[in-house]
This record gives sequence, C-alpha cells and structure tokens, in this order.
Amino acid sequence: MSQSRVPLVDLAAQYATIREEAEAAIAEVHRSSGYILGRAVEEFEQAFAAYCGVKECVGVGSGSDALHLVLRAYDIGPGDEVIVPAMTFVATAFAVNLAGATPVLVDVRAEDALLDPSRIEAAITSQTRAIIPVHLYGRPANMQAINDIAAQHGLVVIEDAAQAHGATYHGRRCGSLGHAAAFSFYPSKNLGAFGDGGAVVTNDSTAAARLRTLRNCGSKRKYFHDEVSSNSRLDTIHAAVLSVKLKYLDRWNEQRRQHAEVYDRFFRERIDVGMVEETAGCVSSQHLYVLRSIACRDRQQVIDQLKRSGVDAGIHYPFAIHQLDAYRHLNLPDEALPQASRWAAECFSLPMYPELTAQQLQQVLAAFDS
Ligand SMILES: *Cc1c(COP(=O)(O)O)cnc(C)c1O
Repeated sequence: MSQSRVPLVDLAAQYATIREEAEAAIAEVHRSSGYILGRAVEEFEQAFAAYCGVKECVGVGSGSDALHLVLRAYDIGPGDEVIVPAMTFVATAFAVNLAGATPVLVDVRAEDALLDPSRIEAAITSQTRAIIPVHLYGRPANMQAINDIAAQHGLVVIEDAAQAHGATYHGRRCGSLGHAAAFSFYPSKNLGAFGDGGAVVTNDSTAAARLRTLRNCGSKRKYFHDEVSSNSRLDTIHAAVLSVKLKYLDRWNEQRRQHAEVYDRFFRERIDVGMVEETAGCVSSQHLYVLRSIACRDRQQVIDQLKRSGVDAGIHYPFAIHQLDAYRHLNLPDEALPQASRWAAECFSLPMYPELTAQQLQQVLAAFDS
C-alpha cells in the first residue's frame, strides 16, 4: 500500500475550506477598484486590533517591514542598540539593522528557545533603547520579567508576534503585551494572506499615526512628504482575505493544539527526542511543532528516516543569528550563545497545520519507529 506524503504545511487544504468566501471578498475588491488602502484594509485593521485587545492596527507590506517600521516609529536608529534573541527568524535582527541601529544578541532558554530574561541585564548599555522578545514557534515569551527589566531601564518593548497570532499570556493575547507588536501574514503563518503582508498593533496612538505615515512614502496627505520612507502597505486584496480568515483563526488554533496534544503524548515517553512542555499561564498558537534530537540521535538521520516514511520535516532554524554570514563580522563564537547554538544544531519541526487528519498524525508517529 502506498501512502501519501504528509507535508510540513498544506495551504491548499486550508484554501479549500474558505474558497467561496475568499473569492467573494476578492471579487468585492475588484468591483471597488480600491486596491491600495481600500476599505477592506481599515476593516481588517479594526477587526485585528480588537482581536488582539489593542486600540490600533496598521497594516504593512510584511512582518519584516512591521518590525523595521515600528523601530523607526519609536525613533530608534543610528547609535542605538536593540536586544534580540539569538534564536529567531533572521528578520528580527535585520529589522534593527535596517532601522540603522545595532542588534545585540542575547541567548535563549535551554528549555524552550525563548529569550532568557536572566541574561538581558548584562547586555544593557547606555545605548540600549529597546528589547524585541520573539514568541518563537507560537509560545509566548516571559513578558512579565522582560517588561519589568524594560521599565527599570526605560526601554521600549516590541513583541515579534509573527508566529503568535492568537497565543495568550495569562489570558492576554500576544500583541497586547508590550509597547507595540509586529505580526506577519506570510501565507504559512497561523493567519496568512495570499502573499506577503504584516501589521503593527499597539495602544500607542502616536506610534500608530507615525506608522501610517512611514508605510506610505512619508505622506499623510497627497503630495506632502514629511520624512524619507518607502511604501509598505497591506494590499486591499490581502486585507479582504485576512478578514475572512480571522473568523476561523481561533478554531484553526484549537485544531493545531489538538494535534500538538497527540504529538506531546507520544514524545513525552521517548528518550531520543526532547519535547517542550507548555509554560503555566501560556497558550501557544502552535505555529510550529518543534522537537530536539538528543541522546546522540543525529538530527539528519531522524529527518531522513521520516522522509523515507513519507513525512516531511523542517528545521526552524538551522543557524542561530550569530552563525549567519550576515553577522559573521560580530565574531561571536558559539560558546558566547550556547543555548541558541544548541537549538540550531538539534531542532527539527514536524508537520503542523489545522487540516492535519488523524491518519496523517498516525503516519508521522509511526515514522519514528519505522
Ligand atoms: C515570519 C517571521 C518574520 C518576518 O515576517 P515576513 O512577513 O516574512 O517578513 C519575522 N519574525 C519571525 C519570528 C517570523 O517568523
């Protein structure tokens, strides 16, 4: 019997569940011809701000732009330092450089790959302006400790919530836990557009107003350009699709959580893989289901074994930030960031998306003993 492949993500399966609604929403944009900052953008911004439990949402061109522009909105630039975790998607660190500031890498916790609050203070200098905690894999960072340190030192806290749509921290949504938060709507994120997209959410109406200018060629009013900036707007078509998908986000996240529980029950018993338990008070968005290969199991061997059984595995991410060529000039040895280096060497991701079937989950688990 030939079995089909279990992919890491299956965007076509999700599209099939919302096709009619999404196509109707797109058709409406065509009828209005309001392709740029049309009504659907404002509608989505209001709906997503309400969902996150904040006052403002500003749609932009990508999660990368959301991070970079929010730093600019807080006047963070040349001469400033921003603390970022050494284990994250590279856009977190690049945003700091693109704003003209300097990223300062801080190690992550051994148990969950999240920014380690106990290492932040040693990295703070007179030039530090902000901290960017990342809710990596959908797990909320330890915001209480991070906000306390930030308050003591007068720092801005910008959540990188690109993987954490709908995740909660002591009952509050990621995106409402710092001064501002950046989201990505890259298609495979928990809430994904049909292309690139992103947003900044915040209760800070001054920052939001500045962001509306920054995303639009530095312009509040046609032909008047107040400051140098590029164009980075959330396209109306994507906003219309995102409004459709937002209605299903909680249901999809719940499905992800049910799949994660099946995985957890299986991996908790095993000694050859390291599994992460959820932190008390936190509800992960289960963006990615990430394990570590331990007890001398070679990661590539595990991934190859899964492949042979028709199961795709991923690595998020194979390099910590200091190991990337773009940051080679920092000359940071792995010993300086041991936990991030270890996560990069050992982590791998299993298929995780709402539409996974019970049969597919069993195929994934069976592949571990094949
Ligand atoms: C996806 C992602 C980004 C960047 O978002 P884009 O929309 O792809 O630019 C930033 N940070 C993290 C943690 C991400 O996962």
